[in-house]
Amino acid sequence: MATWRDQVALVTGGGRGIGRAIARRLAREGASVCVNYVSRADAAESLVADIVANGGRAISVAADVADDAAVEGMVDRVAAAFGPVTILVNNAGLSYKASLESYDPEKLERMRQVNGDGVIHTTRAVMTDMRRQKYGRIVNITSIAAIGTALPGNAFYAATKAEAQILTLRFALELGPHGITVNAVAPGFIQTDMTRGSDEEAWKQRSQKIAASAMLGRVGDPDDVANAVAFFASPDSGWVTAQVLAVDGGRMDYVGH
Ligand code: NAP
Repeated sequence: MATWRDQVALVTGGGRGIGRAIARRLAREGASVCVNYVSRADAAESLVADIVANGGRAISVAADVADDAAVEGMVDRVAAAFGPVTILVNNAGLSYKASLESYDPEKLERMRQVNGDGVIHTTRAVMTDMRRQKYGRIVNITSIAAIGTALPGNAFYAATKAEAQILTLRFALELGPHGITVNAVAPGFIQTDMTRGSDEEAWKQRSQKIAASAMLGRVGDPDDVANAVAFFASPDSGWVTAQVLAVDGGRMDYVGH
């Protein structure tokens, strides 16, 4: 019977924002955790120090999830430190806001590579060991943008997250026979660097407006998302797969009928 203490979790983009809360939560549950980052070593290393100081097990590893070879190398390093990855959380992501008028194809392609290809690279890198162990938990962080929320400027970001969402269902189908679950958590508006921007006042006003369009009347905290991830990642959640759980406080501003 698998327990939390047997788990080895890889959280991409685990140093900041939502990923930081997820890595901390999985470590608190008892898993060994790899905090992946691409540029902010300081953030990842401070979290690792914090987890270790609290009696947990963690390392940080740099890798761009858009780079297949770098991802393979990272997964090997985790295996050498803790054993094969049993929990993969695809959290790393970019949000590039643009309209049909203004979009820049290069920025769009980079976002697509990180948000879409990144999920493919990491899943491929961990699946051999997961299959061999007949056990695995994969959780993809998508977005309610993929389900059709109406915030302006998010069309292309939404498309990359819709890709991650359909990959979740398709990978669940492919990997289910091997004892591997694949689910997605689709957050609403969460207070992180991604949503904050540089203008604090504008950000507060935006947050208030979005809070007013949620049934629960507030925007989200990274821990709200980490809680849902912990459910899917749990050893007890072995009969739940191909699900998308919106964690958005009950947002009501969706496009469509
Ligand atoms: P954030 O604060 O901007 O943090 C993004 C994280 O992703 C950072 O840790 C960053 O690493 C990492 N990252 C970016 N590109 C990467 C790459 N190529 N390879 C590896 N890591 C990379 O964002 P967040 O708000 O926490 O968002 C986390 C996830 O939730 C994203 O997938 C995002 O799309 C999704 N999401 C967020 C919201 C929201 O309202 N915040 C809503 C829905 C979905 P460094 O620290 O090294 O830069």
